[in-house]
Amino acid sequence: MNTNSEHILDNKWSRKSIHSLTPFTLIDYPDKTSCVLWFAGCNMRCVYCYNPEIVKGKGKYNFYDIRDFLRSRVGLLDAVVLSGGEVSDA
Ligand code: SF4
Repeated sequence: MNTNSEHILDNKWSRKSIHSLTPFTLIDYPDKTSCVLWFAGCNMRCVYCYNPEIVKGKGKYNFYDIRDFLRSRVGLLDAVVLSGGEVSDA
């Protein structure tokens, strides 16, 4: 039994779960400036999926990359949209 979960959490945050990032959009969150985080991977294979490259692709960004990006946008963005991919290996 591991009573020190710190390194486990650190590994989780280091995982590259984000496939791509739309840094700015005016159409994905009503009446707000926002960015979109596109999560990589999905264990479903819906025939109507509009993001097959994301569902079958690998992530490029981890939590720290996204945190740094969001810190650079404080005061500029009102919202963050989470989309994907459904992260099948979380
Ligand atoms: S991302 Fe959504 S639409 Fe695409 S395969 Fe996964 S569940 Fe289906």
